Amino acid sequence: MFESFYNGRVLVVDLEKGTTREEPLEEELVKQYLGGAALNTALFEKNADFDPLIIGCGPLTASFAPGSCLGVMTARSPLSHQIVHVPLTWQTAVETKLSGFDFLVFLGKAPEPVHLWLHDEIADINSSSGIEEKDVWEVTDFLRQEYGDESIQVLCIGPAGAKGSLASRVSENYWGSKDKFALGAVWGEKRVKAIASRGLGFFALPDEVFPKAMGLKGLLLEGKIKGKRGSLEILDSLGADEKAKGILEKFSHRHNACFNCPFACNDFLMIEEDPAVRQRSEKEEPGLQLNNLSDLLTLSPFGEDSLKLLKKALKLSLDPTFCGLIIGKKGLSVSSAVEELDRLAREGGELRKEDLPHFSGVSPWPGELKIESSLTQALGAFSNAIPPRPVIASDNEFSISADPVERAHWWMMREGMAYVLGICPQLALISPELTAEDMVDLVKVGSGWEELSVSRLEEIVRSMIVSSLKSKEGKEDIHPSLKPEGFDEALAKLKERFA
Ligand code: SF4
Repeated sequence: MFESFYNGRVLVVDLEKGTTREEPLEEELVKQYLGGAALNTALFEKNADFDPLIIGCGPLTASFAPGSCLGVMTARSPLSHQIVHVPLTWQTAVETKLSGFDFLVFLGKAPEPVHLWLHDEIADINSSSGIEEKDVWEVTDFLRQEYGDESIQVLCIGPAGAKGSLASRVSENYWGSKDKFALGAVWGEKRVKAIASRGLGFFALPDEVFPKAMGLKGLLLEGKIKGKRGSLEILDSLGADEKAKGILEKFSHRHNACFNCPFACNDFLMIEEDPAVRQRSEKEEPGLQLNNLSDLLTLSPFGEDSLKLLKKALKLSLDPTFCGLIIGKKGLSVSSAVEELDRLAREGGELRKEDLPHFSGVSPWPGELKIESSLTQALGAFSNAIPPRPVIASDNEFSISADPVERAHWWMMREGMAYVLGICPQLALISPELTAEDMVDLVKVGSGWEELSVSRLEEIVRSMIVSSLKSKEGKEDIHPSLKPEGFDEALAKLKERFA
C-alpha cells in the first residue's frame, strides 16, 4: 500500500556489536503512525532501553510535493532530557531515503568511532578512527572523496560533538542544521561520526500524484511567496533586525533551495570574493551557506566579523546561537571570541550556569517577546530554529486568532503535520496555500489508503506531541527573562490541550 512512498525498510544499527540488520517497515505501523516524527517516536519507545537515536522520513519525503525535503532526527536531548525532533532540510534525508532506507535506528554506543555509508540499498558500518578529530568541513570532504562522489550527502559532527559538548549540534554537510537540542553530543556519546548517503533509487508513483503535486507547487508559487526568495524576506516579515539585514544585504551572493522547495530561503554568503561577481569562485572556501537564521541573529552584534565566528562555529559543529549568547554576555573581542569557541568545543558550556536565557536551546527571534513564542519554545518538542509564528504570510491568511494559547497550539500542530509528512516545517509557516487537506489528499492518492483523513493526521500529531511532553524529566526549567506576563497560566492551559 505504501510502496509509492516507502522502501519498506528500517535499518537497525547495533553500535555495540558493530552490526546492521534490516527490518521490514510494517504496513500496520505506517497506518498507525504514518511516518516522520510520529513513527520515529514509536521506534524510539520500542527501543527505549538502548538509548536510541532515530532518523526517519515522512511519506512525502523525496516526493514531488513542495518542500518535500524533510527528514527528522529524534533522540532524548541531553539539554532538556526530553524526546525531541530535529528537522533535517536541504537534501540529506532525501538522499537517505533514495539510498533505500526509510528509518535508521541506532542502538547503544560504539566502542570505537564509526560512520555509516548508505548506498544502493546497502548499509556499511565503517571505522572512523582516522577522522574522529576532523572538523565538519574536513569530514564532509573526506567522505565524498573516500566514496568517490561529490553528490554524497553527509550528516556529521565535528570536535564539539565528539567531545560531547552541550553546545554542539549535528551538521548537514558543511552548513550546520536546525538542531537546537545538542544532539551533536548524542552522536559524540554514541561515537557516530557521520552518516554518508548516496541514493540513486526512485519511487514509482501512481499517475495522479505527479500532476497533483505540481499543481500544488504552482499554487504556492503564485501565493505568498510569489517573487520572493532569501532570508531577508523572512527577517523583514518577522521584524527588522538592522545588523543582520545589513550583513545579508552586503554578503548575499545567491539563494539556494532545499529539495523541491519553491521558496529558496538559504542565502549563500560570499566572504572571500565580491558577492556581485557571478562566475564560480576558484577560492577553496569562498563563503558559507546560512541554513539557520537564528545563528546570524545572535552573532550579528559582531557586525561583519559575525561571519568569521559563524564559519568557525560551523566547522567545530557548535550551535552558533548558544555560542553567541555566551560570547555576548562575556563581552569578548573577536579574537577572544574565537578562542572561546575553541573552549566551548573542548569543554562545553551551560546557558543555565551563565544565567543566560534558556529553555533547552533558545532562538532570539526579532521583536518583543510574545507569550506564544515562549510557549512554543517551552514545550520543546520541535526545533525553535523555525520561527515561532507565521512567516511572510499573515495571521489572517492562516486563520489564527489573537489568543496566545491558540496561536501556540496552532504552531505545534502545523509543525507536527510537517514533521510527520516529510514537508519543510518552515515552508509550512510561509505558505498558507499548503493545506492539511491537500497534503492528506496527496498521501491518499499515492497510497490508496482511503481511510486517511485530516482528523486522523491530527490525532497522530497530537499523540506524538503528548509522548514528547511526557518524556520530559523533572520540572520546567525556564529562565525568568523568557516568561512574559501571563506565561505560567498560558503554559498550564496549553499543556492541558496536550494532556
Ligand atoms: S523553506 Fe527554506 S528551509 Fe524550508 S525547504 Fe524551502 S529552502 Fe529549505
